[in-house]
Amino acid sequence: MAARKCRSCRKRPAARKASGWCRACGDRWKRAGKPKEGPPPPGKGGRPREAGTEKRVQRTRDLLAEGKGTMEIARLLGVPGSTVTYYKHRLAERGELPVAA
Ligand SMILES: [Zn+2]
Repeated sequence: MAARKCRSCRKRPAARKASGWCRACGDRWKRAGKPKEGPPPPGKGGRPREAGTEKRVQRTRDLLAEGKGTMEIARLLGVPGSTVTYYKHRLAERGELPVAA
């Protein structure tokens, strides 16, 4: 039995909802303010990033290089510790995570 494809992107299987869209398209539709015509077309290169995130990621890298801990960085940047952990993952993916001296 073939999985029902999303009516919007036709790539992912549709979530079990009346809409017939996959979860990603459903989320996009909600973010777009639930337009009548359905989800807007997906943007290029995955989910959009909040402006300023890259700056904080860079700052996290600098602070890590200075030997600051996750919670200290979180306090300095004014974000939750989980967000700093996410920044660290981003840095690690790019091979930019400073190695503790
Ligand atoms: Zn979809």
